[in-house]
Amino acid sequence: MATMESLIGLVNRIQRACTVLGDHGGEGSSLWEALPSVAVVGGQSSGKSSVLESIVGRDFLPRGSGIVTRRPLVLQLHKTEGGQEYAEFLHAPRKRFTDFAAVRKEIQDETDRITGKTKHISNIPIHLSIYSPHVVNLTLIDLPGLTKVAVEGQPESIVQDIENMVRSYVEKPNSIILAISPANQDIATSDAIKLARDVDPTGERTFGVLTKLDLMDKGTNAQDVLEGRSYRLQHPWVGIVNRSQADINKNVDMLDARRKEQEYFANSPDYGHLAHKMGSEYLAKLLSKHLESVIRARIPSIIALINKTIDELEAELDRLGRPIGGDAGAQLYTILDMCRAFDRIFKEHLDGGRPGGDRIYGVFDNQLPAALKKLPFDRHLSLQNVRKVISEADGYQPHLIAPEQGYRRLIDSSLSYFKGPAEASVDAVHFVLKELVRKSIGETEELKRFPSLQADIAAAANEALERFRDEGRKTVLRLVEMEASYLTVEFFRKLPTEPDNKGPNNTAPAIDRYNENHLRRIGSNVSAYIGMVCDTLRNTIPKAVVHCQVREAKRNLLNYFYAQVGSREKKQLSAMLDEDPALMEKRDGIAKKLELYKSARNEIDSVAWK
Ligand code: GDP
Ligand code: MG
Repeated sequence: MATMESLIGLVNRIQRACTVLGDHGGEGSSLWEALPSVAVVGGQSSGKSSVLESIVGRDFLPRGSGIVTRRPLVLQLHKTEGGQEYAEFLHAPRKRFTDFAAVRKEIQDETDRITGKTKHISNIPIHLSIYSPHVVNLTLIDLPGLTKVAVEGQPESIVQDIENMVRSYVEKPNSIILAISPANQDIATSDAIKLARDVDPTGERTFGVLTKLDLMDKGTNAQDVLEGRSYRLQHPWVGIVNRSQADINKNVDMLDARRKEQEYFANSPDYGHLAHKMGSEYLAKLLSKHLESVIRARIPSIIALINKTIDELEAELDRLGRPIGGDAGAQLYTILDMCRAFDRIFKEHLDGGRPGGDRIYGVFDNQLPAALKKLPFDRHLSLQNVRKVISEADGYQPHLIAPEQGYRRLIDSSLSYFKGPAEASVDAVHFVLKELVRKSIGETEELKRFPSLQADIAAAANEALERFRDEGRKTVLRLVEMEASYLTVEFFRKLPTEPDNKGPNNTAPAIDRYNENHLRRIGSNVSAYIGMVCDTLRNTIPKAVVHCQVREAKRNLLNYFYAQVGSREKKQLSAMLDEDPALMEKRDGIAKKLELYKSARNEIDSVAWK
């Protein structure tokens, strides 16, 4: 059935895809688990590799006496529509082998690469694919032969190690067991049957294969076994005649060998009546047909698994972020979208949706008043200093009524002290805003994958904040200068006139202009005026800071940036959307896998209902 052929091909493709993607059917690889494969099991030299080769119809496996197969060989057969036959190893992708003697050499070399030229084994599989118009789609696994004793140069544990390895392959419920027993040994001593019975007691996934029929003692035959009387299995036993060592040495061609095998059965007095159910060609067809029925039964669960995997991959892609369209428009859109996301979060910080904005109020409520309080007016308006400033301002002639110049100088010099706290407020708020930018970038989920864009936004925002800071600084300094430019006349009009020269006891005609009480009064008047200005600035500095810095940050933080980005070329935009390479690679991998699973689903859908 053509559709089934393609279904098996499809399963092979999925399996190969899993392998290529580094999914070798380990834990959690549920798709692999759901796909059937055929494990070739038997004692050492029972003919496993020979059977495998005759199913493939090609000479390519290292063969001989002793332990030759020392690593599992996962062999995938892909039926092609004509064209040249070739083989490919997973460990050497893109290298096509057309010479099967070279394949054999590569298997040997690759085995030695892991195990050394020893008699040791390794359970790391070698993956080999064969593409040929002459094969049926099958996955076969050649395994080291079961043994009974460790030979020279092998650790004592080898017998158990081999059994454990073989067992790990055949105990999987998706494994079809090709149990190879040589006909020239009593079936009761077969290692293959012993293990198969262990892992598959009902025999539903075991195929009994009897090799070396040609080597049986004269006068004996294997009819009891082949007709299922010695050991019953659910599937019929298949007898095989492989090439003898002598044939191999003589380089007897595979096709010749097959023909000879067919002739053997056709002409055999013992098996003639079974001839149509014997031989490697029949075995290959039998396996393929069985595989079809297994797959058919599994289609619903395979589809369910594929769907589940697709869902998982989609979710993973969502988590990592979808790839961005390649054109400049899509890129610009993405960048602006992320800027807006960042801006939204930044605003939330200021408006109280997220923490941090309250620290700005902290500046106005604590830092500024504390700094104002610490200003050294006591020292500046001390009697001593007042006297000094007043006398200097009076010049050669002491003042007559009020020391106008002296007042102005004292007030001027006092006011300049306010510049410090005013600038400090600007800076403090600047740093709060900067910190909020940093925080907001970290909290913008969408930006996580774009380190370059993160840096660009941070730089643009900080640059804007610097500009706002300059503006803020200018404005608060201007507030202070304004206080110095024009004094509040009202304040001085309300002051009581000199009380010192009043009173009944005051007989002195000339008042000492620099007497202590007089100076103290001047000092306290100036101090009261400065106090009044201080109250004003305590209120106006925050207004200026919010106006120039906070409000601007909320409204125009990224305006410059938007204008710049809007005029950028595609190349620059791509650079901004540069992602962490590891992440890109990961996403590419997932996207590829996803595509593969989706096409697998489509193909299964299309064949499943025919
Ligand atoms: P493996 O160790 O189970 O892989 O066995 P091999 O396939 O390497 O075969 C071991 C030896 O038995 C080789 O020399 C084969 O030529 C020989 N052999 C295998 N099957 C047959 C058979 O059906 N008839 C004959 N005459 N020799 C066979
Ligand atoms: Mg072998």
